Amino acid sequence: MRCPFCSAQDTKVIDSRFANEGDQVRRRRECATCKERFTTYEVAELNLPRLVKSNGTRVPFDEAKLRSGMLKALEKRPVDSERIEQAVSQIKKELILKGEREFPTREVGELVMQALSKLDHVAFVRFASVYRSFQDVNEFTKVIENLKK
Ligand SMILES: [Zn+2]
Repeated sequence: MRCPFCSAQDTKVIDSRFANEGDQVRRRRECATCKERFTTYEVAELNLPRLVKSNGTRVPFDEAKLRSGMLKALEKRPVDSERIEQAVSQIKKELILKGEREFPTREVGELVMQALSKLDHVAFVRFASVYRSFQDVNEFTKVIENLKK
């Protein structure tokens, strides 16, 4: 890693620690030439798939959009932000683990529903009713029945 102050090539790591709950490694480095210190952050390069919408268009995965959809369903529900963030990370992890370059938005919706069903049943029903735009009452009842299991 080149020194940002004097551009010398020789810098050494003097401290490493996890940051951002272990998603990043923060390293303090020192330049062997000018002795200046600086910090670098290391993150794993994870490629999230592009999403394929039902009309066939491709869009980049949008974490903010995912989160806001979930927050909308969870509005005024007693679920703390920490758990919501964990659920968002979990969904991202699952998408990454699938290792596909493209992924249907419909299936992302299913992942969100799974996550919400564990967080809060009211939020789950809110999301599911918008998302699946239930055609009839039977379909809706079926989802609720599955939820009870
Ligand atoms: Zn230097």
